[in-house]
Amino acid sequence: MKRVFNFSAGPAMLPQSVLEQAQAEMLDWNGSGMSVMEMSHRGKEYMSIAAEAEADLREIMGIPVNYKVLFLQGGASSQFAMIPQNLLRGKGTADYVDTGDWSAKAIKEAKRYGNVNVVASTKAGNYTSVPAFDSWTCDANAAYLHYTPNETIRGVEFAWVPETGDVPLVADMSSTILSRPLDVSKFGLIYAGAQKNIGPAGLTIVIVRDDLIGETLPGTPTMFDYKIHADNESMYNTPATYGWYLAGLVFKWIKQQGGLAGMATLNERKAQKLYAAIGTSGGFYNSPVAADCRSWMNVPFTLANAELDKSFLSEAAQHGLTTLKGHRSVGGMRASIYNAMPEAGVDTLVSFMQDFAKKNG
Ligand code: PLP
Repeated sequence: MKRVFNFSAGPAMLPQSVLEQAQAEMLDWNGSGMSVMEMSHRGKEYMSIAAEAEADLREIMGIPVNYKVLFLQGGASSQFAMIPQNLLRGKGTADYVDTGDWSAKAIKEAKRYGNVNVVASTKAGNYTSVPAFDSWTCDANAAYLHYTPNETIRGVEFAWVPETGDVPLVADMSSTILSRPLDVSKFGLIYAGAQKNIGPAGLTIVIVRDDLIGETLPGTPTMFDYKIHADNESMYNTPATYGWYLAGLVFKWIKQQGGLAGMATLNERKAQKLYAAIGTSGGFYNSPVAADCRSWMNVPFTLANAELDKSFLSEAAQHGLTTLKGHRSVGGMRASIYNAMPEAGVDTLVSFMQDFAKKNG
């Protein structure tokens, strides 16, 4: 068996010990004689797995009791619609910050349901920075303010949380959730597709303050109503049972790493090593992102000589370093170094980059 260091932006690596535990339990979970995949979601075994996963997530993130935790499907992309459908209410207008491709998609979808006020955009600068808060043209009557704390494609991450007062703050945390401590009480709603820091694709987590649910736009499908899912403990229909179980194993693994504080220490160190390798390469490698918002999770970089891109990728793969190609809309390279990327993976990448630069510089 050969395992590689997979720098994919998602689906991404899972902790080795989680995969091993899932493998050990695959045919017979805890003496039940069944795989978790084969269990009824309403049976007592599965209910215990689901409840424990939620309790562990609440503990790790310090989620206050007045927030619901929903285990849904449909990806973060469905949330682009579900959020306006559930949160616009009588207000009709929502504020959005445009810092990249994912913000732009969220904005496009929200426009189908109401007025969107784009309070700031970094599009003109090719989405390589975070807009200064004092430049935002916020609407005090907006139903909510939506932003994307980490833009996965261009590797732009907020190092701060906007203070929106009474306007609920909504965050697409798909590629940053669980990477560092967070004060959940500052948010009205947090959502994330699971396939980066939580578990396998197919599961979507929504953490929502309970006063924000219960009033949907006319015509909202039943499956798009947060209240339906909250009232049914995410079991209105058959949930993504296996993904939920694996997420639970990941939450336990995070606890073993020292919780979110432990993850943050490790993640910051991994990111600094990689940015340092780029910064000390004498211009062989370059980061397009402004220094104050370089992501800990997704590290895009370019080679000054783009003709070397192909050989960089193929030689990296020979060293067990895979999926380093940048997003098709950006080019260059992108190393996604989520929670489960071992530090050894970053160390191996850094020494490969240094050797490659020496050979080709
Ligand atoms: N938002 C962000 C920040 C993402 O990185 C992604 C996917 O990579 C999405 C939304 C879309 O997620 P999904 O594929 O789960 O719909």
